[in-house]
Amino acid sequence: MAQQDDVFKKIVSHAKEYGFVFPSSEIYDGLSAVYDYGQNGVELKNNIKRYWWDAMTLLHENIVGIDSAIFMHPTIWKASGHVDAFNDPLIDNRDSKKRYRADVLIEDHLAKIDDKIAKEVAKAAKRFGDAFDEAQFRATNARVLEHQAHRDALHERFAKAMNDNDLDGLRQIIVDEEIVCPISGTKNWTEVRQFNLMFKTEMGSTADGSMTVYLRPETAQGIFVNYLNVQKTGRMRIPFGIAQIGKAFRNEIVARQFIFRMREFEQMEMQFFVRPGEELKWFAQWKEWRLKWHKALGMGDEKYRYHDHDKLAHYANAATDIEFLMPFGFKEVEGIHSRTNFDLSQHQKFSGKKIEYFDPELNEHYTPYVIETSIGVDRMFLSVLCSAYEEEQLPGGDTRTVLHLPAPLAPVKCAVLPLVRKDGLPEKAREIVDELKFDFATHYEEKDAIGKRYRRQDAIGTPFCITVDHQTLEDNTVTLRERDSMEQTRVKVEDLHALIHDRVSLASLLRKLR
Ligand code: ATP
Repeated sequence: MAQQDDVFKKIVSHAKEYGFVFPSSEIYDGLSAVYDYGQNGVELKNNIKRYWWDAMTLLHENIVGIDSAIFMHPTIWKASGHVDAFNDPLIDNRDSKKRYRADVLIEDHLAKIDDKIAKEVAKAAKRFGDAFDEAQFRATNARVLEHQAHRDALHERFAKAMNDNDLDGLRQIIVDEEIVCPISGTKNWTEVRQFNLMFKTEMGSTADGSMTVYLRPETAQGIFVNYLNVQKTGRMRIPFGIAQIGKAFRNEIVARQFIFRMREFEQMEMQFFVRPGEELKWFAQWKEWRLKWHKALGMGDEKYRYHDHDKLAHYANAATDIEFLMPFGFKEVEGIHSRTNFDLSQHQKFSGKKIEYFDPELNEHYTPYVIETSIGVDRMFLSVLCSAYEEEQLPGGDTRTVLHLPAPLAPVKCAVLPLVRKDGLPEKAREIVDELKFDFATHYEEKDAIGKRYRRQDAIGTPFCITVDHQTLEDNTVTLRERDSMEQTRVKVEDLHALIHDRVSLASLLRKLR
């Protein structure tokens, strides 16, 4: 684990050093859990968004996009349940004055019990060698059984307290389990209180009465309140979907793990409207399609898993997360939810406007059911960055830091490098850049030795380097160096476009989704 923490720290500093992610307001000592994307980060982020947007809107003729405002009528958040129920249970330690999410303290405690079990298993595996039967050991070892029974009972008690919104119950678990504050090491806890995660602000001048508005905590409601507009003007027939990418804001109590949990972040959400009764079929379909979208990036199929929810939100009848193996464990990157007709019905009730669909095939009016796919852009970005980062040992004893980014997502697709800064090589290199730049993000670099320039491009994940040398002037060929294999091949300048396009185009990635 310590080793994984180290790797994660390196990734965070690499992200800063190479212009991917900066702490917000850094010259003023930063703003907690808010980050800015730098010159390379914004390109990677835009490419992720484009991959998602095109996969939704180009590959599905029944999905269209919108871009709704961040400010919305405050009653929307009453109708959606966010004003009353978008809460986290918080608890303070009186000695360290640190604030925690009570549920997270308990989850971390559960994870510690899991660790103890894993350690027992690892110890026994070492002792018994090849003859080790893990299943049998887990079923019979007294210490493991004791930890497991403790864990299961605790998990059940925790799930019940969360489901019942039982704040005293959560506090009692913390007390009974003797959970201490990681900073002060004491058990001097306050009561558990509910904390609403929405940011509020005022709209309009205070003199003639202003209105409290919220910064949206999810983009989905902007889709629901535009359902009728899009359905009517786009003459959409069920089943159909509406996709949106945009900022969301949550006043997270404990924000940690870099851009994994931020207070301002971005979501890519798609609401798919279906006939009542067909929602579970579509839920299964979207589960499959979304995992395929992730896996097409080629970051390793074993790094994904579904986590089906057994504790469902009151409006949902099925829910699953797609989790990705980050350096700090499997973590949710995307949620897929069958939301029934809860949201549309609530907006119908609160607005007094009829929100129904006339199904010409069934000759029937109904309020559509909804399957939602909701993915955080920043978490996706983090998963791509973590999986791409490698400190590679090279044969000569050298190491290089390289980002094996999926080529269509890379911020820079190719770098054109004159071998020396004279003899007409820079001019020739510029000529090549002027051809390629219309289709690919292309860098020109002439400073430093060629090896150093290759390393700089490796560090930002550039899939191709094109080196212009004296031979180029004679026969119009260049060396094309591939990032991952570091292989160099001599190719004709006129073939460059096709060779690069083949690997870096978004279309090649989208074709894998067919
Ligand atoms: P978590 O349990 O981690 O708080 P959630 O279940 O509340 O997440 P959803 O409301 O389902 O998350 O939001 C959908 C997606 O939005 C998540 O899968 C995640 O990728 C992203 N997301 C949610 N909260 C944050 C945040 N604070 N920072 C960055 N991304 C977030």
